[in-house]
Amino acid sequence: MKGSTHTVIGANTVWILTLFSGFSWNPFLIIAGALGGLLPDLDASDSKIKHLEIGYGKGRNRMAIKPFYLPSMIISSLFKHRGVLHSLFAVILVGWGSYFLFLFLSQWVSFLTQEFWLVLTLGYLSHLVADGITKYGVPVFWPWNRNIHLLPRLLRFRMGSFTETIIFIVLLFTLGLFVLNSYQNLNLSELVLANGGGNMIY
Ligand SMILES: [Zn+2]
Repeated sequence: MKGSTHTVIGANTVWILTLFSGFSWNPFLIIAGALGGLLPDLDASDSKIKHLEIGYGKGRNRMAIKPFYLPSMIISSLFKHRGVLHSLFAVILVGWGSYFLFLFLSQWVSFLTQEFWLVLTLGYLSHLVADGITKYGVPVFWPWNRNIHLLPRLLRFRMGSFTETIIFIVLLFTLGLFVLNSYQNLNLSELVLANGGGNMIY
């Protein structure tokens, strides 16, 4: 699948988690989900995550860094594409590592709540599921090197196909709906709080 599709699928994990766990939402969680959805392709010689830029400004004034460029160069030279990084073993490692990373970071950055590791890991897992419905499949049970398919042969599709475009558009739409709905709920709760404050005068 394309990097843009993985980004959108990873970002959608936020509303799925919100639906089932009821945890509080913030926009940075969407970034964590999207990032998780891109991470497995650090093993590719060229990928969206490799060229992901963080920066500001335009044209000659632009200042930016590519934080995943070097890690991707190293990882892709050590491991084959759609190998160990596309396995359940990697999901467990990412879950374990990110749990302790965000536990540590949340001491210094207040908005980095414990939900972040869960969203990042679920985003990572979503990448495996997404690649698992393509023609190539994924070696989910690595070190057993057999590629696993999550769909019957007839329903599997190629990267960049029409089906992938439809998946991308639908999930972009559901993500947009979730963000819109979350902001409306946020405004509503602020209104209730404001009214509550007013009542306190009496
Ligand atoms: Zn992949």
